[in-house]
Amino acid sequence: MSSRRKRRVVLLGSTGSIGLSTLRVAENLPDDIEIVGLTACSSVTKLAEQAIATGVKNVAIYDESKAKELRGLLPPGVKIHIGAEGLDEISQLTEADIVLIAIVGTAGLQPALAAIDAGKDLAIASKEILVMAGEIITARATQKGVRILPVDSEHNAIFQCLEGHRGPDSEISRLILTASGGPFRETPTEELWNVTTEMALKHPTWDMGPKITIDSATLFNKGLEMIEARWLFGIGMDRIEAVIHPQSIVHSMVEFTDGSVLAQLSRTDMGFPIQYALTYPSRLKGTLKPLDFTELSKLEFSTPRLADFPALSLARTAGLTGGTLPAVLNAANEVAVASFRAGKIRFPEIWATVASVMESHETVTNPTLGQILSADRGSRVAAKQFTHACGE
Ligand code: NAD
Ligand code: MG
Repeated sequence: MSSRRKRRVVLLGSTGSIGLSTLRVAENLPDDIEIVGLTACSSVTKLAEQAIATGVKNVAIYDESKAKELRGLLPPGVKIHIGAEGLDEISQLTEADIVLIAIVGTAGLQPALAAIDAGKDLAIASKEILVMAGEIITARATQKGVRILPVDSEHNAIFQCLEGHRGPDSEISRLILTASGGPFRETPTEELWNVTTEMALKHPTWDMGPKITIDSATLFNKGLEMIEARWLFGIGMDRIEAVIHPQSIVHSMVEFTDGSVLAQLSRTDMGFPIQYALTYPSRLKGTLKPLDFTELSKLEFSTPRLADFPALSLARTAGLTGGTLPAVLNAANEVAVASFRAGKIRFPEIWATVASVMESHETVTNPTLGQILSADRGSRVAAKQFTHACGE
């Protein structure tokens, strides 16, 4: 008889890229993973199809104006939780063991805290919420005795490399995050001004949602991930580095104090880190194609172009300063990415927006959640003003 326990999962952001990959993982492991709740921002048709296919009894829709339409698409007996409150409610479902947060941006923060308060484990893909309030989330999780399992492939890799070494932080000398470098890894500096949204949305190795794809092109994704790692693993920013690795086969590495480096390797398929987070500590048969080492002609590593892609330095400053500054960086970046996608600013102005908003922010140290939320709001207003000025 198996000693494994079936994990009952509430999936926040089920209609997105990570959401769809999670549903595929669950479908492949019906004895180990049961989806018990699904949520979307506004895509009611997709959400209803998913609810019917999985047979869940609870769904949540963030956009309240879509609730009526959703009711008409769902079988009777499926409860609809509505709005921001609905996301909190579904994150506390009695029948759930774990809440997987795959909402893009910061809307997953309150549901994450609600899930922790209800004693649910968290699997986190939404790096933005850890950048914004990582200290508060991790402290509350420790206090409540719930686990935080990383879904982001780099952090999932580090989590695996750290297995058996959770103990003294003195055993670890560096965390090394790998970055594909995005589509403009080799683009000359002056040509970055000509980058269109379409060009930025073509990622060389990963197929992901639009916001993270743009973040990968600016390297803000890696910057956000450095801060994410800081909170997930309790390691100072001064010991977190990023290295360019265009093949995206080594997902990240840990260097220990004895000089040994452990790395995790696999193909680029988010199904793998999602599965590991949901079935941890078991390793189950998945759909990941094994690596053929004779096919891997070379694995390359190089230093990021820090001067041309200022996102990494901005993130390092935010992470080292701490307080409200990471939330400000994150919010300004969200606004700048939206403005770029709307054609209001040019590609390098994404960095300029974030830098300007960070410069004008007066950091609050040891902030409360209220102070973080207020810094987030202020940063959005400032970023909108800046991007408006750019576009004129
Ligand atoms: P996506 O844009 O494909 O999907 C986003 C999901 O969030 C959708 O289901 C959408 O309905 C929901 N959503 C958006 N705004 C919402 C709101 N205000 N309230 C409730 N729900 C809302 O994004 P994605 O690529 O799946 O990324 C999701 C998160 O996972 C991001 O934080 C991203 O950084 C992280 N992540 C993604 C990948 C990837 O491969 N896609 C890899 C690592 C980490
Ligand atoms: Mg990642």
